[in-house]
Amino acid sequence: MTADSRMLVYEMSINARVTWQAHSLSNAGTDGSIRTLPRRQLLADGTDTDACSGNIAKHHHAMLLAEYLEAGGPPLCPACAARDGRRATALYGLPGYEDLTIERVLNECGLCDAHGFLLPAKKAASDGSTEARPRLSKHSVIEFSFALALPGCQYESEQLTTRCGDSKEDGQMLMKRPGRSGEYALCVRYKAVAVGMDTDKWTMRVADQAERTRRHQAILAALRDQLLSPSGAMTATILPHLTGLSGAIVVRSSVGRAPLYSALEADFVARLTAMAGSMGTVLPFETADEYCAAMSRLIETSDPGMPGPRTP
Ligand SMILES: [Zn+2]
Repeated sequence: MTADSRMLVYEMSINARVTWQAHSLSNAGTDGSIRTLPRRQLLADGTDTDACSGNIAKHHHAMLLAEYLEAGGPPLCPACAARDGRRATALYGLPGYEDLTIERVLNECGLCDAHGFLLPAKKAASDGSTEARPRLSKHSVIEFSFALALPGCQYESEQLTTRCGDSKEDGQMLMKRPGRSGEYALCVRYKAVAVGMDTDKWTMRVADQAERTRRHQAILAALRDQLLSPSGAMTATILPHLTGLSGAIVVRSSVGRAPLYSALEADFVARLTAMAGSMGTVLPFETADEYCAAMSRLIETSDPGMPGPRTP
């Protein structure tokens, strides 16, 4: 804690066990147009278990973060304002963005800053029609694991649905969609020190600490909401029932990593709690409302940490 009881977050992890009933949040594609295939993952002991992709979790965090950033005032670039998933990469070639710099991208867009982007380097055309451009990139400050179902705690029901054609002659098409229920282990890592930072050069580019704190608060708010209201595929008709949320948040205030330990292990909260002190502050939660309270307190009372001073 700082002198005014505010907490610095250099890095934090969320280690959660979440229970979803009747969901189809992440799928591996379709078998033709008949059956939606659930995503699967083999564990280290060969157990085949249900999985939800981190890609889909990251995408939905980015979409909600854009809403928070717009509501709170931090800027978005034109690409992110239009919800273009390419982010800063889509700015290249737009009028006024010919000489894009990392400093400009990070100062003008809280979403590019938080979720990263990659604009590859390009050589100049030999006929002089296009100029060379340098590579611009930033790694995401927030990382999501696959959500993996606990073996023995996951079940699947195949739901048969019908889709009607445009006319009577088209008839009905039968679709098979899996509805899954289970307890899932989920890990999230958030490197708050990298908010406003050029992670390739490890140089702070957003000098205004209040602006960094606003972005940090928006990132945490989107993360809090995301676990309390499931987002993913097929929620239009298979909106999951959330029936359990427990685990531990680890906050590291000084340089180093916040430990991650998966809820695939029954004693994960005890193992994380035993590392409290030397590895950070551990905030266990047993219910959805305890998770909400812990995250809300972090939103209200924490600031993103700063990198240590460089020695020449
Ligand atoms: Zn952007």
